[in-house]
Amino acid sequence: MKKSIQSIAIIGGGPSGCALATLLNRKGFKVAVFYLEKRPEIIVGESLVPAIIPMLRELGVEDEVKSYSTYKPGASVWVNKDEEATSPFSYGGGNLPHYAYNVPRLDFDKTIFDLAVREGVTFFHQVAKIEKTGNGDELKLSDETIKGINNYFNGQPDLIVDASGRSRTISRLLQIPTKSGYRKDVALFSHMSGTEAIDPYNIHLHRLEKGWCWRIPLPGRTSVGVVINPEHLKEYGKTKEEQYDNYLKSEPTLQKFTSKGKRETGVVQYDNYQLISQQMYGSNWVLTGDAGGFLDPIFSSGLFLAIKGAFRLARIIGDGKDPDYKTYQKEQLRELDVWQKLVDTWYSGSLFTLLKVGQDRMDTAMGRFLGPHIQKHLTRIFSGEAVYRPYSRNFLNFVTGSMLDIMRVVGLHKRNIKELEIK
Ligand SMILES: Cc1cc2nc3c(=O)[nH]c(=O)nc-3n(C[C@H](O)[C@H](O)[C@H](O)COP(=O)(O)OP(=O)(O)OC[C@H]3O[C@@H](n4cnc5c(N)ncnc54)[C@H](O)[C@@H]3O)c2cc1C
Repeated sequence: MKKSIQSIAIIGGGPSGCALATLLNRKGFKVAVFYLEKRPEIIVGESLVPAIIPMLRELGVEDEVKSYSTYKPGASVWVNKDEEATSPFSYGGGNLPHYAYNVPRLDFDKTIFDLAVREGVTFFHQVAKIEKTGNGDELKLSDETIKGINNYFNGQPDLIVDASGRSRTISRLLQIPTKSGYRKDVALFSHMSGTEAIDPYNIHLHRLEKGWCWRIPLPGRTSVGVVINPEHLKEYGKTKEEQYDNYLKSEPTLQKFTSKGKRETGVVQYDNYQLISQQMYGSNWVLTGDAGGFLDPIFSSGLFLAIKGAFRLARIIGDGKDPDYKTYQKEQLRELDVWQKLVDTWYSGSLFTLLKVGQDRMDTAMGRFLGPHIQKHLTRIFSGEAVYRPYSRNFLNFVTGSMLDIMRVVGLHKRNIKELEIK
C-alpha cells in the first residue's frame, strides 16, 4: 500500500462490503459503497454457522436476524436415505454459541445493508467501473464513475475494495492467478412448501447416489438444493427446472422427503463457484468475501468467511502497512486452505466412513472411549470452530485419515472409503 488511507470505495453492497463499510465508518473513514439493486428471487447462503454469531453481535444485528430466521441448533448428516447422524452444536463444547440461524437470504442482506445506511455510510446505486492507471497494478474509478458520484472523493479514493462477490471485478481486470477447485459441480436450488417437516431446525445434508443435497428449514419454506456433476444432470431434462424437478422425483432420498412438496419459486443455478484468487491486495486495492475466494457450499462457511474477512480488513485499513496486508492475504488463503481440508473429507467419503465405522464399533470399549471425543470434534466442523482449534484440526485429520487406514489394516473395519465418496 502506497499512501496513508482516508477514503475508501467499496465495490459491492453484499454482506462483506456492507459489514466492512460499517466498521470503517465507525473508525471515521470516508467510505462509499457501490451497489446494485438487482436481486434474484432467492439467493443461496441461507445456513449460518455459530462462528458468525459473535460478529453479528458486534455489528449489533443479531436480534434483527433472529426475528425473521429459524433457530438452528445443529446439523444432521445422512449417509443414505435412512441413516442419519445428528450433532447438536452443544456437543462441540468450546467457546462459540451453541446455535446459529437459517436465514432468508434477502432479509439477511437487507439487515447488513440497512445497518450501514443507519450508521451513515454513503451508498451509490450504480455499477463501479474501474480501470488500470497504467502504473503497475494501480487502479482507479473510471471518469464516468467519478462523474456519476459527483466527485464524492474529491478525486480518486485512496483505496478500492472489491467486495463484488462472484463478479470478481478486480481479479478479472488484473487477471490475477486463480486456483479453481477440483469439483465441477452445479448447484440447483429452490424453496419448497409441504416437504417433510424438519424439527428441530437443523440443516440436513444428504449424501446421494449422485451428488449431495441440502435441506434448510426457513420460516414456512424449506430450501432444497442439489449439488451434482452436470454430466449426471443432463439425464434429467434440458432446462434447469426439468432437471431439478425430475431429479427430486427419481432420487430415492429426495423422493422420501420432498414427494409431498411443492416448488414455490423458480430454480436457481450456480456453477464454477470454486475459485480462489492467489493475490488478495495490490498497490491501492484489496479483495474481500467471495471476490477473494469461495470454496464450496458444504459446511456453510461462505457468509462467515465473507464477514470475517471484513473484520480482518477493518482492523488494518488506515494503520496497516504493507506487511499487514501481506498477513491479511496469508491468513485469508490459509483459512480457505484449512476449510478445504475439511471439505475434502466430505467428498472423499472419509467422513461418512468414519460415521459408519463409529456405528459398527459403538459397543466396543474403543467405541465407547473414542466415540464422544470424535463426535465433539466432528460437531466443530459444522460450527466453524474446528478451523481455529489446532487440536481439533489435527485430530480430525487423524481420525478421517490415518486412523481409518490403520483400523482397516489391523482388521478393525472392512469398509472402503471410495464406496462412500460423492460421485
Ligand atoms: C451453491 C452455494 C450454496 C451456498 N450456501 C451457503 C450457505 O448455506 N451458507 C453460507 O454462509 N454461504 C453459502 N454460500 C456462499 C455465500 O453465498 C457467499 O459466500 C456470500 O454471499 C459472499 O458474500 P459477499 O458479500 O462476498 O458477496 P455477495 O453476496 O455476492 O455480494 C456481492 C454484491 O456485489 C454486487 N456487485 C457485483 N459487481 C458490482 C459492481 N461492479 N458494482 C457494484 N456492485 C457490484 C453484487 O450485485 C452483489 O450484491 C453458498 C454459495 C453457493 C455457490
